[in-house]
Amino acid sequence: MDGAVPAERPLDARLGAQLAVLRAQDLYRTRRVVEGTHGARIVVDGRACVNFCSNDYLGLAGDPRIAAAAGKALSAGVGSGASALVSGYNREHALLEEALAATVQRPRALLFSSGWAANLGVLRALLGKGDTLIADELNHASLIDGGRLAGASYVRVGHGDVPGFADALALPAQGQRLLATDSIFSMDGDAAPLAALSALCSQHGAALMVDDAHGFGVLGGGRGVLFETGDAEPLAADIYMAGFGKALGTAGAFVAGSEALIEFLIQRARTFVFSTAPPPALAAATRASLALVAGAEGDTRRTQLAGLIARFHSGCAQQGIALSPSSTAIQPLVLGLESRALAVSGALFQQGYWVAAIRPPTVPAGTARLRITLTAAHTFAEVDGLIAALSAALKTA
Ligand SMILES: *Cc1c(COP(=O)(O)O)cnc(C)c1O
Repeated sequence: MDGAVPAERPLDARLGAQLAVLRAQDLYRTRRVVEGTHGARIVVDGRACVNFCSNDYLGLAGDPRIAAAAGKALSAGVGSGASALVSGYNREHALLEEALAATVQRPRALLFSSGWAANLGVLRALLGKGDTLIADELNHASLIDGGRLAGASYVRVGHGDVPGFADALALPAQGQRLLATDSIFSMDGDAAPLAALSALCSQHGAALMVDDAHGFGVLGGGRGVLFETGDAEPLAADIYMAGFGKALGTAGAFVAGSEALIEFLIQRARTFVFSTAPPPALAAATRASLALVAGAEGDTRRTQLAGLIARFHSGCAQQGIALSPSSTAIQPLVLGLESRALAVSGALFQQGYWVAAIRPPTVPAGTARLRITLTAAHTFAEVDGLIAALSAALKTA
């Protein structure tokens, strides 16, 4: 065997060819290594930069108090040992579920190990052949995959198109009908017309599922998008899902709803039943984060974030930088070509600002963009610096 070049295995040859195509199309993706603590100022690939592309909207991912809560619980060990239905359901999980249900004012909440797992588990459990999923075309990939996995018929409606949703709901259908939507769309930062969708679902006897990954912790005083109504009562939604990896700064997700919904998911959501329960210490960390987010400190952080968003809008307007309509922490700058998005992102990185270039298939072809995200941990000076760097990069890159 000495010196012999091993023959390339057929799988690797096939993958290599596909990777070459992605490279040629500017669609190849690589990771950058972050050293140490996550936050607004980080060290990435060995250099210091200001991070404008995380989902850590309240600046809590690196918070030492949350780490301390995890550390305290970690002293009892890391693993949960089994799925929650076997022996993996720890007191920490139960306490977090109770706190979440109280926060979103629903009878019950159920933990999942990720938002991805929650969406797949819920849709596959609730829908099957003969049922219908009605979905916004820009829904998160996990809702799309969950719908496919369920085997239900899939009605894709134009983004935020209320008359389109009304038409879809008016179609004769047997079986369960479920309308699923992101609350805040992850790559556009705009909001679903939830009040209209909720009313339509009630009118047509369809169930409504809201994925509030980007709203929980930030909107509705921290309780999430359903509490944005300004009324005493939250907006009606049968299935509320949100994750902890964004504003709460930890990891994992939950679904909240009626007693019947949660009991049914405990029986039937396969990503719950057949998956090891998350570490109890992670639940402890999330509960510590939830207490911060729901309290006065959460209000302070949300106010700071709103101020930064306003500053970013006015600064970009002054520089003639045309932003998409979004009033949330997610501020997309659509540039079109993949190569252009990569060039502008690269130029910003050279100046110490990290803003990822988002390309297809994450966004539709021809809409490659910078997805700029603001967090409560940024300063006004950093936002001003980003705008200046952006203005220069758009001219030269
Ligand atoms: C991030 C995200 C998810 C997935 O959540 P994870 O906990 O990261 O798996 C689901 N839906 C939306 C809208 C998201 O942005």
